[in-house]
Amino acid sequence: MGQEFTRRDAIKLAGFAGAATLLGGKGAIMGQSETMLKESINELIGAVSDGAYVLPKLPYGYDDLEPLYDSQTLHLHHEKHHAGYVKNLNTALEKLAAARKAGDFSAVKALSQAVAFNGSGHILHCMFWKSMDAKCAKNKSIAAVPDELAKLMNDSFGSVESCKAEFAAATKDVEGSGWGVLAYEPTAEKLLVLQCEKHQNLTVWGVTPLLVCDVWEHAYYLKYQNRRPDWVEAFMQMANWSFALQMLAIARR
Ligand code: FE
Repeated sequence: MGQEFTRRDAIKLAGFAGAATLLGGKGAIMGQSETMLKESINELIGAVSDGAYVLPKLPYGYDDLEPLYDSQTLHLHHEKHHAGYVKNLNTALEKLAAARKAGDFSAVKALSQAVAFNGSGHILHCMFWKSMDAKCAKNKSIAAVPDELAKLMNDSFGSVESCKAEFAAATKDVEGSGWGVLAYEPTAEKLLVLQCEKHQNLTVWGVTPLLVCDVWEHAYYLKYQNRRPDWVEAFMQMANWSFALQMLAIARR
């Protein structure tokens, strides 16, 4: 791992690894998938490349989440909606740089709001693609929650099922356009379920999202029309708990 990787970090990661054996040094963690060794959030979600915000490739094909998530919606959602947030984020940042250069901050309020909205939209969508497991969609099976994440769910919510139930209920009940978010809160070292409105409202500073479900209408309306609860139940069937665990490992580091 990186130079900042400490013995304490190693012990924590070993906890996630279960049967993994830590021998020390990069690449020496045995028994883990390659993705488990990602050192940064960006390595996992691909939000940035060469210092610029970019639209990441999906971790599966556009047809691979059928029938729970239809190909047409996925195309539009990824190629139009998500791409729009990336474009508008980069544009707002360019305008802020120009304002800085000119010493003219008369538009700073609108530009700051644009960065918060589009930046949060970009990051959440990057996480959203990873939050769905194509294997679950294909096999019509629900993935088991990995032990270390399950332990934290128990500590935070009383049980894994309570955590899932709260996440689903909160997500279905988001007011207007927004997200359901399972997040790690580092001061209490616990999980929180949050309802995010738009992309940037109703968070707790310092948390790291682990699993996110998009409940903007653009995320589900073609297939599910006004039946948001049906879309959320479909999402829960393909929730990628392994991704959530990877995010937790990074958040704890
Ligand atoms: Fe969306």
